[in-house]
Amino acid sequence: MDFEISRGSNRKPEAQFKEFEATELYCSKCRRAVPVRKFLLLILPDGDKYEYRCAYCGNKVGDKMDKTGQYFGVLRG
Ligand SMILES: [Zn+2]
Repeated sequence: MDFEISRGSNRKPEAQFKEFEATELYCSKCRRAVPVRKFLLLILPDGDKYEYRCAYCGNKVGDKMDKTGQYFGVLRG
């Protein structure tokens, strides 16, 4: 189960656990639309990768890339 992995490695930024998306996604385990939690997976030069998990059972229900190009543009001057 990949749920265990995320519990071990998601310790540092507390914001991850509290952040809720307004969106509801379909969970194949709960068999209905559920509120989701958003987890930051990776920070890449062209954006951050997030994963959405069911707020009830922790099943992965989706993921997305957030483009944050301007942030890195500022850093590089
Ligand atoms: Zn679920």
